[in-house]
Amino acid sequence: MNDDALVIAIDGPSSSGKSSVAKGVARSLGLQYLDTGALYRAMTWLVLRAGLEIADEVEIGKLARNSKIAISTNPDQTWISADGIDITNTIRSAEVTDAVSQVSAVPLVREILVELQRKYAKLATEQVGGIVVEGRDIATVVLPKADIKVFLTASPVARATRRGLELDVDIAEVSKALEQRDLLDSTRAISPLRQDPDSTLIDTTNLDLRQSVDAVLSLLDELTVDIQADADIDSEWGDFLDIPVDLVSKPVVAILGRPNVGKSTLVNRILGHRSAVVEDQPGVTRDRVSYQAEWNGLDFTILDTGGWEQDAKGMYQQVAQQAEIAIKEADLGVLVVDSTIGATEDDQRIVQMLRAAKVPILLVANKVDTQVFESDAASLWSLGAGEPHLVSALHGRGAGDLLDVIVKSIPKELRTKPGLLGTRAVALLGRPNVGKSSLLNRLVGSNRAVVNEKAGTTVDPIDESVELDGSSWLFIDTAGIRKKFRQDSGHEYYAILRTKSAIERSEVVVVLIDVTEPLSDQDRRVINLAEETGRALILCFNKWDILDEDRRFDLEREIDKDLQQQRWIPRLNISATTGRGVEKIPSSLRKVLANWDRRIATSELNRFITDFVQANPHPLRGGRQAKILFATQVSSQPPTFALFVSRVLDEAYLRFLERRLRETFEFEGTPIRFRQKIKKRESTLK
Ligand code: C5P
Repeated sequence: MNDDALVIAIDGPSSSGKSSVAKGVARSLGLQYLDTGALYRAMTWLVLRAGLEIADEVEIGKLARNSKIAISTNPDQTWISADGIDITNTIRSAEVTDAVSQVSAVPLVREILVELQRKYAKLATEQVGGIVVEGRDIATVVLPKADIKVFLTASPVARATRRGLELDVDIAEVSKALEQRDLLDSTRAISPLRQDPDSTLIDTTNLDLRQSVDAVLSLLDELTVDIQADADIDSEWGDFLDIPVDLVSKPVVAILGRPNVGKSTLVNRILGHRSAVVEDQPGVTRDRVSYQAEWNGLDFTILDTGGWEQDAKGMYQQVAQQAEIAIKEADLGVLVVDSTIGATEDDQRIVQMLRAAKVPILLVANKVDTQVFESDAASLWSLGAGEPHLVSALHGRGAGDLLDVIVKSIPKELRTKPGLLGTRAVALLGRPNVGKSSLLNRLVGSNRAVVNEKAGTTVDPIDESVELDGSSWLFIDTAGIRKKFRQDSGHEYYAILRTKSAIERSEVVVVLIDVTEPLSDQDRRVINLAEETGRALILCFNKWDILDEDRRFDLEREIDKDLQQQRWIPRLNISATTGRGVEKIPSSLRKVLANWDRRIATSELNRFITDFVQANPHPLRGGRQAKILFATQVSSQPPTFALFVSRVLDEAYLRFLERRLRETFEFEGTPIRFRQKIKKRESTLK
């Protein structure tokens, strides 16, 4: 249990700014973030997909029980899946939005989702610094004991405008839809939208995002104690290691099979050491044993299970049950079969169980010790679980290849780290007609190497891998660049979703801007989105060649002003048609990615912090002084720093610190993150 863990509940009507504020607070404090609206939307998606009547509460309840929803609690990388399908974008569609209030009113749906929300909150308080949960009934029903409760509001006009800007649609229409949803949400019989008496009301109508986040953070002052000296840090926080990125995003790979097929030996091979007990007696691995594994930069959990057999008796029965539980938790089931015996009925049943649980299957034929057995292994195709992968766990044959296959078989949305295969991933973005495809053609030229077709479709090559300056790069969603994507309705909406997904899959974002037009809202949105998602960034100003000297000078000043907060993003002036400046792009990409990957040693960082704090004390708040006592870089991609502070710091002070940090260390082109660590008052501990 982590005594300093914080639970923050944020409620409020649609578009009151809950999700941006909640994410901002979570980022600032290094907490997890849970969007409960997304869970209700996911349920609604499942209901629509199943074609159920919205009034059919019994069937909806059943569906809720039998579905598997997984949600990311990482504020920098939000995604949600249902039954293994990534529905992050789909749940924002008009269809889901129109039905969500009604589905959310079904008692069994609420019961199941509230339980899930509490589970996430509990995990977050036990394993990490805590969580910010946002929704409609968090302070009143889900987490009434939250440390901080906030009710956000904003005027109807402000809310409709924000939502409208986000989606580029008609504001009057949005306003009507919002009103309708708020009405349904606040008049339903169970857990209606209402303010908890202990909640602090924050009206964000006239606040920008930073001010809104500050307003929530300042509520922490009451909750926290001053830590005075650096010496206290060690005793108070002990060894501060790493901030886990996500509670659930680590994919779970379950190793399954009948007794004695060599599962544990295989797990040992995978882990590279012999830590699991290996004996000849069946069922030695009695329970589900989990291991943390890493391959090709991807972290995942391996669940080693005891042997499964139909009609298991006595202690073997329990072992079999544990394997069944493992199947429920798995994102990928690795079914190990004994190639010297061939497919058995029990193997077939395991395949069926995995199918029923909608878990993708990877078939491994073990004990392939000689060529002779290889032909036996071919008969395993009959299991209908795809290609058998041949290994000899005992001799290590095929084990390295198997890891590659495992990592590739993990569902895409769970492989949270982009650039998995050693190639760096680039998203090239910009308004239609700004010259993206000419730039891409110019960059790629005759070097276009491999075209990867998106799995399962033969229509559009989505990503292209390209050689530039001797290294290979993956250009994301080039189909969206080369062609204009038409959608019958909600064209803008889909364009935004497409952009979002391209950013999320990339490591570095290149935003192409047309110098003959002023910087558009859409350009700014893409820049902000990339920054928020924590990707490295480069701005390319296209058609530079057609400007005269005077105009160039003025334009530089205008851009400076427009991007005041984002001076750290390198700007390249290019012409995609003449090729001017295009040759600078590869080295610039390399540079910003190096900065994105950068780590600063703790000693060096603290020398900088000490000087900074001395020269620039934090303004007093309520007569008390906030101070950074110690700092350490907890991760890179983007560089993220934990700041141990006596009291929570203002956003403005953090921005100032960021500027100085950038002046001192080389961070051009990468966002920088701070996670504040505060000390909770004894009396608030539960
Ligand atoms: O926040 P968002 O607009 O995504 O929420 C979608 C819907 O989910 C809300 O209109 C509401 O009907 C429902 N919801 C809820 N309880 C929550 C969060 C959302 O009923 N805690």
